[in-house]
Amino acid sequence: YYKYDKEIIQQRMKLLIPVAMRIELKEGINNCLIINDYYNSDINSLGIALEFLANQSRYDKKTVILSDILQSGKNEESLYSEVATLVHTKKITKFIGIGETISRHKEKFKVDKYFYKTTEEFINSYPFISFNNESILLKGARFFKFEMISNIIEQKSHSTVLEINLNSLIHNYNYYKSQLQAGTKIIAMVKAFSYGCGSYEIAQSLQFHNVNYLAVAYTDEGVELRKAGISCPIIVMNPQENSFDAIFKYNLQPEIYNFRILNILLKNLKHYMLNYENAISIHIKLDTGMHRLGFEEKDIDELINILKNNRQLRVESVFSHLAAAYDNTKDDFTLKQIELFTLLSERVIEGLAYPILRHILSSVGIIRFPQAAFDMVRPGIGLYGIPSTDKEKKELLNVGTLKTVIYQVKTIKKGESIGYGADCIVNRETKIGIIPVGYADGLSRRLSNGKGKLFVNGCIVPVIGKICMDMTFIDITDIKAEESDEVIIFGKDYPISNIAEQLGTIPYEVLTNVSRRVKRVFFKE
Ligand SMILES: *Cc1c(COP(=O)(O)O)cnc(C)c1O
Repeated sequence: YYKYDKEIIQQRMKLLIPVAMRIELKEGINNCLIINDYYNSDINSLGIALEFLANQSRYDKKTVILSDILQSGKNEESLYSEVATLVHTKKITKFIGIGETISRHKEKFKVDKYFYKTTEEFINSYPFISFNNESILLKGARFFKFEMISNIIEQKSHSTVLEINLNSLIHNYNYYKSQLQAGTKIIAMVKAFSYGCGSYEIAQSLQFHNVNYLAVAYTDEGVELRKAGISCPIIVMNPQENSFDAIFKYNLQPEIYNFRILNILLKNLKHYMLNYENAISIHIKLDTGMHRLGFEEKDIDELINILKNNRQLRVESVFSHLAAAYDNTKDDFTLKQIELFTLLSERVIEGLAYPILRHILSSVGIIRFPQAAFDMVRPGIGLYGIPSTDKEKKELLNVGTLKTVIYQVKTIKKGESIGYGADCIVNRETKIGIIPVGYADGLSRRLSNGKGKLFVNGCIVPVIGKICMDMTFIDITDIKAEESDEVIIFGKDYPISNIAEQLGTIPYEVLTNVSRRVKRVFFKE
């Protein structure tokens, strides 16, 4: 716009430094969504935080709780005019100002507004119960101790949390993108509650970064995303027969994998007076060797015939899935799958005579078979920071950290027992830590009696005794650890592959098994 040279722009872009901030997303009381950003309160980071709030599509009601802005270097008058303008342009519905200075400028804010001199005054006089079904941004200088407010409006839970780093998610998303030719579209797999990492928040982040499609396993998962305001195309991989009403109503795109489900779809369509313009988008799944869901070679002609005669269905894409893309001893098999897919998908496209997108690669496929990217790819596990190749190990950032704290420390005498069954007898004086996480949280009971190992203060310590429903014992005899210390089950410094190996399974299973009762805490830096 200002006619700067591209090169100068590039040079100067490099000089930009990120604004220091750390935004946390949490579930609040009465279904509220809490956005915590009390790292600092300068005007630049306020702009970013308000933008972030404005982009949360879950609720129309958006509330800001803001303290005085300290050390801005600007005069009060213009500073708070600027704040008020931001609040108005971002369509904030309720504004709560805390501090002597901000209160002097209450006239500038033309929204539903409340002002208090101190955080204590706010806490003592505001009816917190009235917060409901809204997104609330908490932004205040350290001095104002806004953690006192978040303590009241956050949903409480036991102290085991799955922390999700949304920046890392987007970093990983961009990494896969960088491995593809420009223009290749991305379907982000968010099935199974986004591999256990949360649904709405992950989808929202990906949508904000212009993902082309999201894919869920079941219709309900798609409906949940739509209800939370996700508007990008959503593919349902296993549409149940009785869910087509919801698929039409919520504008979801079903995967069609055999004639049975195709006929159910057509029968359901009869109830809807659809014309060609609002045709239903579908995705055709082909079986090229995995032998899970999908049409086979022998079905193709009949499939084309039916689709040609039912123009209210529009095939948006045709795809298949690789069975052994991660295994370099099976590359012949994989290449055969790709070849068969090329052939069969070409027949579908020729038969229907309109443009149809093609895709076959999941995360590992993008890395190992980039020549087969076709028009789109479907990364899942890699987005959540779990590598399948050495190359990904170097590039992906950890997304999920499952952690808890030591509730109690005890010393058990030699010869005494620990836990259920009274049969875990210690043969030395043993210091144990009791942690509030159990098999009901997804810490498999098969990790009992030393099989599982967790990470405390930089050391690896074994589980001792049997894992209970809500509690686990760890042996901390040989390390320095005390009550309230953090315990990592998996995370950046103790990868999820450790627990997966101890269990004899794959990280996918460990991650998706973290139960819904474990609070997910999302943050952005
Ligand atoms: C789950 C899934 C993916 C994603 O696989 P990852 O290994 O998690 O990348 C891709 N395609 C289909 C059909 C899937 O079911």
